[in-house]
Amino acid sequence: MMEPEALLKLQEIDLALMRHRKTLASMPQMKKIKAVQAARKKLAVQTRQIVGERKDAEMDLDENERAQLRMHELVDEAQAKYESGEVGYRDVQNLEAQLTSLAKKLEKREFQHKDLVARLEKARLAEKNARALDDKLCSEGEALVMSLREQTSDIERDVRKLSLERESLLVNITPGVLERYDAAIKKFGGLAVERLRGNVPSVCRVTISPSVFGDLKRGPRIAECPYCHRLLVTEGMFDLD
Ligand SMILES: [Zn+2]
Repeated sequence: MMEPEALLKLQEIDLALMRHRKTLASMPQMKKIKAVQAARKKLAVQTRQIVGERKDAEMDLDENERAQLRMHELVDEAQAKYESGEVGYRDVQNLEAQLTSLAKKLEKREFQHKDLVARLEKARLAEKNARALDDKLCSEGEALVMSLREQTSDIERDVRKLSLERESLLVNITPGVLERYDAAIKKFGGLAVERLRGNVPSVCRVTISPSVFGDLKRGPRIAECPYCHRLLVTEGMFDLD
């Protein structure tokens, strides 16, 4: 295939691919899929916080229970000494003071224990709810993707076919022209190439002046439009179609 023909075909393919991409992006499911993804991302941050809180609550509860256990051991030791009858008056007083102090500390720990249990239960419930919500969002997302796939399978098939066709076309186009084409596509948002029909370019449709027309006739088959600066295919300028 000659380069001018390949370039025009390339543009045709790229315009079709652009239309397909636009159609795919405007599918109602796309918006919903994005909303589900955003919701899951936000939920993941919240879940991390909840898991952190649950772990803290577990550690605090564990620490409380260990402390209580240790205090009970101390009480038992003091009690045993006290009951052994082998201690003097001063020691008895010390032991009584120690037991009173331990009893107060234990009471405080027992009181805290109730709060810690409640805190842990609350965190566990929040974690369970967060994971259930994520499962729900995940299923919703999967259903949306399935529905999108069903409705866009024809477009996707065409996109694959066009992409392959595009790939095989590129061998017919020199790197310099391709570079100009890529730059023009960006500049014009798609319509980068026009054909000269007689003395009128097909896109901007500004009549070429006789002197410029003479230059174009003698110039390369892929020139540049002097008015809109798109790539201008002059090959076949006298064709009737
Ligand atoms: Zn032009």
